[in-house]
Amino acid sequence: MARPDIYPIGEQPPLGVIPERMFASVIREERYGEPINAFAIEEMPVPEPKPDQVLVNVMAAGINYNNVWVSLGYPLDVIAARRKMGSTEDFHIGGSDASGVVWAVGDNVKELQVGDHVIVTSCHWDESAPDIRMGVDPIASSSQRVWGYEDNFGSFAQFTAVEEYMCHIKPPQLTWEAASCFMVSGATAYRQLRGWPPNVVRPGDPVLIWGGAGGLGSLAIQITRELGGIPIAVVSSQEKVDYCMALGAHGVIDRTEFDHWGRLPDIDDVDGIRAWSEGARAFGKKFWEVLGERRAPRIVFEHVGQQTIPTSMYVVDTGGMVVICGGTSGYNADVDLRFLWMRQKRLQGSHFANRRECAEVNELVRQGRIDPCLSYTAPSMEECGKVHQLMRNNEHPPGNMAMIVNAPSLGMTDLPL
Ligand code: NAP
Repeated sequence: MARPDIYPIGEQPPLGVIPERMFASVIREERYGEPINAFAIEEMPVPEPKPDQVLVNVMAAGINYNNVWVSLGYPLDVIAARRKMGSTEDFHIGGSDASGVVWAVGDNVKELQVGDHVIVTSCHWDESAPDIRMGVDPIASSSQRVWGYEDNFGSFAQFTAVEEYMCHIKPPQLTWEAASCFMVSGATAYRQLRGWPPNVVRPGDPVLIWGGAGGLGSLAIQITRELGGIPIAVVSSQEKVDYCMALGAHGVIDRTEFDHWGRLPDIDDVDGIRAWSEGARAFGKKFWEVLGERRAPRIVFEHVGQQTIPTSMYVVDTGGMVVICGGTSGYNADVDLRFLWMRQKRLQGSHFANRRECAEVNELVRQGRIDPCLSYTAPSMEECGKVHQLMRNNEHPPGNMAMIVNAPSLGMTDLPL
């Protein structure tokens, strides 16, 4: 029987019926620049699931910083990078967070069935890669890629084809938009705080969390709290102070009270070093004041990068860890190596999460112990550029944003079919 051509956004085909084409929010190289102008809705072919994959009818998509970077074409031109690897595609469908309904399953799929309600997580790997066969954590495999960033055909489209192991059953109480918004932030934060023994959050550990009201930060505060740690957040406004306190932060520092940010002065710039040291020491004292005792953070939760790393490395406790997953303010961050070795500190890179870590975050949300922190839901893919621009300008509301893709309306937890 001939397949239907395309369905309007929000109109469902019968369960399991797959149209030839779909609507998607697409970035092209000629639109690289500010996110507001980078996305446009276009018709695209529906991807075919491979034997280990499922086809998901996307109900809602989470908004993350990675597609701000794609829009800018910086620091990586993802379309050109894929071309270098042999791809002929001249477009990018972003989106690394999704909730949706399994619409078709490949021949090797074992656990999922057509009709299952799922959350899609953002990384995949080659399960037969030599390093994975030697026991490497799959998220640290050289075969690992980010879906909807390094890879094409992400969640900003009516359908997406993803590996079965990328899917987790949606907590039934969550709306499609809430289910789509937290996994990139939550699982990344979870691995940062739990994944790097012996530097894991232990009961009573003070943890400094940059950007506490952001996507990552809002989940990091809650995870630290659940692990018995003492979350101290850093933010840039009173509204965000209140938001972090409501999530369970022990205290909050307003970073606008300090001005020593950025790269370290040259070592022979005596005045510059003195001014920087005064700023960093004052920040450390503020941390003690907010904590209520003279203890340094055991873990500093980093993703800001260039502007904050020198301070993070200075304030973290002896034997403590600065754990970083991004560089919103830049990548050329300076480290005064004397602090690193004399105090035996650790600077640890961390990237998203493995399947077990994703499952544990999903379970914490299912149990209601962690809130997805959904702040704003774009009602349609028409707003894809707008929400990414808000994020680029640091003008987005606290927490995580989502975008309705194919769900018939906001606030739905199910899809009556
Ligand atoms: P977000 O929601 O925009 O939050 C980032 C927060 O950083 C903002 O709320 C802002 O808080 C703070 N910030 C911005 N500029 C700053 C500066 N100059 N100094 C101090 N704080 C600053 O973004 P997100 O979703 O949390 O992501 C943050 C970064 O992590 C992005 O670069 C993203 O690409 C990366 N990331 C990486 C992974 C991974 O797996 N590797 C996963 C998720 C995210 P205040 O203005 O209130 O201080």
